[in-house]
Amino acid sequence: MSAVKDLIGPAVDRLASDLETLSRQIHDHPELGYQEVKAATWLTEFLDKHGFKLERGVAGVDTAFRATIETGEGPTIAILCEYDALPGIGHACGHNVIAAAGVGAGAALAAVRDRLPKGRVQVIGTPAEEGGGGKIRLIKGGVFNRVDAAMMIHGFDRWILHQDLLGIVRAGFEFTGKAAHASADPWEGVNALDAVIQTFNNVSMLRQQIRPESRIHGIVTSGGAAANIIPEFASALFYVRAPELDEMWALQKRVIACAEGAAKATGCTLKVVQQPDNAYEPMKRNGTLVELFRANARVLGVVESPESRERMGSSDIGNVSQVIPAIQPMVQIAPEGTPIHSRAFEEAAVRPLARDGMLASAKIMAMTTCDLLANPAVVADARREFDAATAPRRERA
Ligand SMILES: [Zn+2]
Ligand SMILES: [Zn+2]
Repeated sequence: MSAVKDLIGPAVDRLASDLETLSRQIHDHPELGYQEVKAATWLTEFLDKHGFKLERGVAGVDTAFRATIETGEGPTIAILCEYDALPGIGHACGHNVIAAAGVGAGAALAAVRDRLPKGRVQVIGTPAEEGGGGKIRLIKGGVFNRVDAAMMIHGFDRWILHQDLLGIVRAGFEFTGKAAHASADPWEGVNALDAVIQTFNNVSMLRQQIRPESRIHGIVTSGGAAANIIPEFASALFYVRAPELDEMWALQKRVIACAEGAAKATGCTLKVVQQPDNAYEPMKRNGTLVELFRANARVLGVVESPESRERMGSSDIGNVSQVIPAIQPMVQIAPEGTPIHSRAFEEAAVRPLARDGMLASAKIMAMTTCDLLANPAVVADARREFDAATAPRRERA
């Protein structure tokens, strides 16, 4: 086994300049979620060249793909790529690095395919992580049905091999009142903006009573047409985040109650706009997979930082981790202290530190995939751990 793994490092090193070019190309042509046409083309051309069987547009998502190499009956291990950018600030989440590391790991495995243990390696292109929920559509489309374990990496300002993610669900509120002249006949009006403001006040009070890891944050999306008209329509959008699924749905109910109370107090009617199908779920930890990844990271001399729950975001990899064993280690691609979604992070994502993180994580993912293919019993352990940790899903009311 270690003989095959020993070939991985040199295989990635031989691809290094191609991978760096790919990473920079994606970085310099930022595309928003579901519009990643160039990135998907470049990545699939690369995988095609390295001998993968390509399926483009899987699950009805144009910019998604699945690339497979098969060496016989055995476990199916998936390596996931993201490649969408952020509006205005481009690749400030470093998804160009995720993409290059993912296809780099895949190509390195393809290079040693004659000596790989039996099984299937899939590199899966998952669009629109930044709010579009691409992985949710791929899950619904059955793309992960036959996958035994999945892994991806994400750029960060340090190495953290497991990072919890908050689940996130939206709650939109549309209040309808009655327009009237704000000076001549205000008593004839029903003020929809007051309902929005009251909702914010209610949520502010609720915030004191919630667990410290949970988050509620919102914006006013419509606040009236003119100051001399009592607003007949006003709306707001809230994000509700919590580290556990049950907590997330329960907290969303409490936020909806804040809006209902505001509607009652102001006499407005309320329409609640929910998108339960697009909720990002918390990351379910899989210690079995994390430990395999860690052992390979140590071989490469990675120095990891302790896990922390201080700076938690959300991602649709959380949803994947709720249906199959999955991990998303954080890889240093920027100097410590660089916040993600910042212009500094965007600049860092093509610097030498990002190249180092990309190449190291391509190697670690490929080595971890080798371990899993060689040891179906460990794949079964990961599944057992996953099953034992499965909490019943709360009804999405
Ligand atoms: Zn992001
Ligand atoms: Zn990201």
